[in-house]
Amino acid sequence: MVLWECPAGLEFAYKCGMENWNDLLVSTSSGLYCPPGGFYLDPWNPVSRAIITHAHGDHLRAGSDHYLVSREGLGVFQSRAGLEAAVTALPYGESIEHNGVKITLFPAGHILGSAQVRLEYQGRIAVLSGDYKTFDSDTTCTPFEPVRCHLFITESTFGLPIYQWEPQQRIFDQINAWWRSCRDQGQTAMLFAYSLGKTQRLLSGLDPSIGPIWLHGAGVGPTEAYRREGILLPPTKAVAESPAKHDFSGAIVIAPPSVDNSPWMNRFKEVSTGFASGWMRIRGGRRRQSLDRGFVLSDHADWPGLHEAIAATGASTIWVTHGSVPTLVRHLLEKGYEARPIKTQFVGDRLEETPLPQGEETPSVPSEEALPKEKKSSGRRGKAKNEPEPPTGASES
Ligand SMILES: [Zn+2]
Ligand SMILES: [Zn+2]
Repeated sequence: MVLWECPAGLEFAYKCGMENWNDLLVSTSSGLYCPPGGFYLDPWNPVSRAIITHAHGDHLRAGSDHYLVSREGLGVFQSRAGLEAAVTALPYGESIEHNGVKITLFPAGHILGSAQVRLEYQGRIAVLSGDYKTFDSDTTCTPFEPVRCHLFITESTFGLPIYQWEPQQRIFDQINAWWRSCRDQGQTAMLFAYSLGKTQRLLSGLDPSIGPIWLHGAGVGPTEAYRREGILLPPTKAVAESPAKHDFSGAIVIAPPSVDNSPWMNRFKEVSTGFASGWMRIRGGRRRQSLDRGFVLSDHADWPGLHEAIAATGASTIWVTHGSVPTLVRHLLEKGYEARPIKTQFVGDRLEETPLPQGEETPSVPSEEALPKEKKSSGRRGKAKNEPEPPTGASES
């Protein structure tokens, strides 16, 4: 590993005035790189050493020589990267030192095993948040833990004031009530959700006394990985293993939104569709797909959560990535932080269903909070005044 191997990264550091930190972290064409440690954080190209915050497709890429992940996230990591990937699993709160850089992982509360990465070098501390959410009622992963630092690198997927989440239980109640009414009308409740993280969180909130719970194949592996880690989830069956011409009425099916309008849907007769995502907060999200229901449930921090998390770190320097970056940066500058955007490569979790060629750049695509795809049909509903549009260029996942 050659130190300072990335002139593009140095150029970027210079432009952004990041020179105060570029002895510890530089933004490179492969992602954030720690020169003294000789490792990358969530790199988007294969590298020799990668620290991975979590196993979503926009953070974990295959092909690196060696990975470091949280102990809690090992099973999920292996279900994605394969058992042959060389990996070290570090329990939350325990440290290892690499070339003089002390590395510690802390829970991010985003999905099972999601970690914030704390780097300590010559008395200075930087923390990369990865994706995170800040309230603690999600029973499928360890809650977010604030970490004191000098530099905090935060995501901002939902970095607009309009994004404020309701308590999780209220959303679960809405989903169960919808499922119950679907059942009473002889329908199948088709709930679209991202396969890793969101699906398991939804399972934890479903009331299995209403009816049977089925999973699309994309959700089966991650769900098994959660169960192996000891996360209690209600019994599920795989749609792929259903008997021929099985009647799914009264059941709930959790599937990735990409299956909507696909032949896979033909096996279900009367279907009511719902989508669980933070993007359902804005009408534009639901309008893009003719969904019967939208449930506002996100695994990312909402606007107040981002600000609380940032304040709790005690950091004076904040780098912002991954989402509504300019708005959050502006707010932080107004509050007196030294705040900057940093480069990211947004590919999004459509990787899960439709892998992109390695290194393909598609900026402005949301991450695992996938947007529904646009339908050409209805032009009847106008956009509400002052309502933000979800990012464009979005794809299904
Ligand atoms: Zn994620
Ligand atoms: Zn992400």
